[in-house]
Amino acid sequence: MAMARLKPKNVRFDTGVGGIPDLTPEDIAAGLAGCKPGPVYLGLYKYSGDHTALVPLEQHVFAHIGIQAYAQKVFDDQKYSAVCRYMNQWIKGTPAKSTDALTEQERTWCKTLHQLARLLVDDVVYENRHRTCGGTGFYKGVICRGCGGSGRKLISVNEQARRLNVSNHIYAMHWQDLFERFVPMLQSWEQTVLRHLQRKLYDAKETELKQELALVR
Ligand SMILES: [Zn+2]
Repeated sequence: MAMARLKPKNVRFDTGVGGIPDLTPEDIAAGLAGCKPGPVYLGLYKYSGDHTALVPLEQHVFAHIGIQAYAQKVFDDQKYSAVCRYMNQWIKGTPAKSTDALTEQERTWCKTLHQLARLLVDDVVYENRHRTCGGTGFYKGVICRGCGGSGRKLISVNEQARRLNVSNHIYAMHWQDLFERFVPMLQSWEQTVLRHLQRKLYDAKETELKQELALVR
């Protein structure tokens, strides 16, 4: 009977940055084995409080936006090329060849895209919990009206534009669709992380329980 109560679905992950109770940072790292790099860095950053995971996480988000937006014909050849060169400089520090240097216009555009990647990370790490209902989607026993039951706090368009350092008009014209297009990607990464960690939490509880049972005997 005791095991039934320990089912992973009964476990609430009600923490932000700083960790899941009962899982050490080492457990979390181990639990993420086999995930793709994006979810691994998200899991390390969000649940084990590993701040060194933030830069690689942003880089993976940025690269995925570039690759997918190009595949979906949202970015043309020129934009995709700028994304690749910016990425290259971000990782290596300097352009590999002088021909790889970004024009002023490309750099400005890439920096805004970089801010968009950061906003997507913040959305999934910090700001996705509606405060009134604590992210549960329910308030005083009924579906939360503030978030429509989604549990997510929506960042206002004004705030999104401000974070990207562009006017509301420019944001609505060029960036808003892109932001919304990639919110589901981050959510699916988070689902992957939680699936892996729930399994790990279940294993940890089972081991603990077996040890306790062994002591009783
Ligand atoms: Zn709510």
